[in-house]
Amino acid sequence: MSQKFAAPKGMNDLLPPQIEIWQVLERTARELFGTWGYSEIRTPIVEDTALFVRSVGEVTDIVSKEMYTFDDKGGRSITMRPENTAPAVRAYIEHGFAQQPVTRWYYLGPMFRYERMKTGRYRQFYQLGAEAYGSADASQDVENIALAWHYLKAIGVQHVSLHLNTLGDSSDRPKYLEALKAHFAPHVGTFSEIAKETFERNTMRLLDTKDEALRSLVESAPSLSEFVGEAAKKHFDEVKALLTALGIPFVIDPKLVRGLDYYTRTTFEFIYEPPAGDNALGTAGTVCGGGRYDNLVHELGGPEKPAVGFAMGLDRLVLLMEALGKRPERRPVLFVATMEGELKVHAVKLVTDLRAQGLSVDFDPRGGKIKRQVERAAAVKARHFFVYGQAEHEARAFKIKNMDLPDGDPAKEVTVPLDALAAWLLNAAQAAPVTP
Ligand code: AMP
Repeated sequence: MSQKFAAPKGMNDLLPPQIEIWQVLERTARELFGTWGYSEIRTPIVEDTALFVRSVGEVTDIVSKEMYTFDDKGGRSITMRPENTAPAVRAYIEHGFAQQPVTRWYYLGPMFRYERMKTGRYRQFYQLGAEAYGSADASQDVENIALAWHYLKAIGVQHVSLHLNTLGDSSDRPKYLEALKAHFAPHVGTFSEIAKETFERNTMRLLDTKDEALRSLVESAPSLSEFVGEAAKKHFDEVKALLTALGIPFVIDPKLVRGLDYYTRTTFEFIYEPPAGDNALGTAGTVCGGGRYDNLVHELGGPEKPAVGFAMGLDRLVLLMEALGKRPERRPVLFVATMEGELKVHAVKLVTDLRAQGLSVDFDPRGGKIKRQVERAAAVKARHFFVYGQAEHEARAFKIKNMDLPDGDPAKEVTVPLDALAAWLLNAAQAAPVTP
């Protein structure tokens, strides 16, 4: 008996034609990030559970509720990576890169979080991230932010704005937490159960709660900026000045605390702020989040090495590109209709030769009536079409039809000799590139 299956909930098959957008995003990333001096790393999909507990933080949503954790056959607790900053730091220390002055890495791959699903929020999703280790200077923060900014520009998404904040140094944090707790404490009795738990476990996260009942209380909460020490303040001023010098606009967002424990000083997000009526991302508007994490390398057993990085949500960028109609069309430059017998062998050989020369050429392996093969050529949006028949074989020349021109157009049909075919097609393909 046969049985049908569906992909696991919240995990998507990435298929044609949408995969073309993924490929553009990936190709652009590799080119741009490479140019900016970031090298690719690929770490395992799973890590020791303790790595995430230690780095992301025990009381964060990710660690307390969202991780895919299991015991492997050897009884070790393993977790499917919910993010890639901690695995990157683990690798950076493990393989001795922490001995080098400056290291810049990027990664691209699937992450896993057991989340409540909605538009732009999945359980397997893809992040493109960039991490820079070794410098505490503001120019390193700004380089990292500028890379994200230029990437978003390169892929052509619009209406994305940069939100910026500073969390101060970790030594500034206890005083602020005290003030925050004092602010919320008198009202905890009126909180929802979830808000109560957040108050108890991770008070700072109340600042970016979606709970409307808490809105005015959050508005009047003390601002972290009042508690930021002189050194972190100066650093933040430098970051802002440099961004301004680079012409990168930003808004200061004092409530931007981010969900991971390891951040210090600069934090930032790129948020999609859609024009009225556009709902491409629903409420999942953050396309990129990042910041400085100056203590993490040391906390994971390495030397004192400041670092800064970001992670971009590729699923959300694909949704945006799709909404903008930015899906590249991959069109074969030629479709060859085949006859049966020996002629089919010649036709398949020609198709294979042309493909080997880098030309996108298609045919229908089922063969059959020419009319049906023409329909197939139209379905795959081939630009040109010809029949490999006996007469063509003997004349060593093909009557090429331009599928984009109407019947009766004088340029609809041209005859091209076999010897000139590849060059002719190459010219036609270059005149209409397959990617934007
Ligand atoms: P984070 O690692 O939580 O800072 O997330 C960085 C970026 O990854 C976010 O801004 C999103 O664009 C993306 N992201 C995070 N979680 C998800 C998810 N569950 N589904 C899709 N994208 C996500």
